[in-house]
Amino acid sequence: MLSDLHNHSLFSDGINTCEELIEQAIALGLQRVGLVDHVWRRSEWVPSFIDSTNRLKEKYEGVIQIVTGLEAKALTCAGELDLNDKWREKVDYILGSIHRIPSGSNQFYSKHDQSLDKSKVYEDWLSTIQGLLRNDMVDIVAHPAAELIQYKIPLEEETIKLLCHLGKLSGKVFEVNVKYKVPIQAFLNQLIVQNIPLSIGSDSHSTAQQKLRLGDIIATHQSLALCNLI
Ligand SMILES: [Zn+2]
Ligand SMILES: [Zn+2]
Repeated sequence: MLSDLHNHSLFSDGINTCEELIEQAIALGLQRVGLVDHVWRRSEWVPSFIDSTNRLKEKYEGVIQIVTGLEAKALTCAGELDLNDKWREKVDYILGSIHRIPSGSNQFYSKHDQSLDKSKVYEDWLSTIQGLLRNDMVDIVAHPAAELIQYKIPLEEETIKLLCHLGKLSGKVFEVNVKYKVPIQAFLNQLIVQNIPLSIGSDSHSTAQQKLRLGDIIATHQSLALCNLI
């Protein structure tokens, strides 16, 4: 099923409404669209997001499949999420993300810090992603290891093996993110070999980005046609 399970609306930092994203997905020929927004523990818009997306699910029934989620970032190296637990059951899935790498509770490394000890950053990143894989709240690990690229830290082969092993045990889905072009090929190859479930997302923040990334979404579906795609 041609799907894009990662689109942001005006509820967080996107610039279009959920309905505009849906209309664009239909125009682009997608069969399923995922509406997710960046959430924080104190986000007050979540009930309104749930109400309006439920209405849109009814309105577009039979036209396009709409699924809804929240993208929550890791706050600690244990993989705790910036998410109020009560929203978990109200949406179809939770994307667990690492945007900044935690260095302690609610503290993060800065990629601009010239004195960073990269081996320590790697160690803390690794425990954070392992924490996400253990966290029952997480359904999909968003843009896996994209943050390492931003910190210019290479992903080690041993780590790929470890994460695939833990992924297999946890049953989590790994996102193939066409915006950040992750997982890197060596990681993706291992995920495929282990038959780990994969989702495809554009991480669009506008209808223009949905359009721009459609070619990559289609090409990714074609290349993963025989894989365990959700
Ligand atoms: Zn993200
Ligand atoms: Zn995102």
